[in-house]
Amino acid sequence: MNIPKEQRCNWVEDSDGAWATACGHMFELNEGAPEGNGMKFCCYCGKQLASFGYKEPEDDEPDLCEHAVPIEDYCASCEYEEEGGEW
Ligand SMILES: [Zn+2]
Ligand SMILES: [Zn+2]
Repeated sequence: MNIPKEQRCNWVEDSDGAWATACGHMFELNEGAPEGNGMKFCCYCGKQLASFGYKEPEDDEPDLCEHAVPIEDYCASCEYEEEGGEW
């Protein structure tokens, strides 16, 4: 379903779980997204409601293997252990 932008009110959740509406209000829900609470229209401006849940910021610390090499990178020590060989 495509709703023209000008007929939509975007609700964006912040890290505290409060929703900032495109028409300049804050709304707090006890739980879940507006749609999950049966809300289809913004209660302030009456436009169709589109919600954007809060996303945790990406964790930019890379995962390291036991040799402190980033998992995505090639680790010669891991490769060696997988092959079970001797140095
Ligand atoms: Zn609104
Ligand atoms: Zn390793």
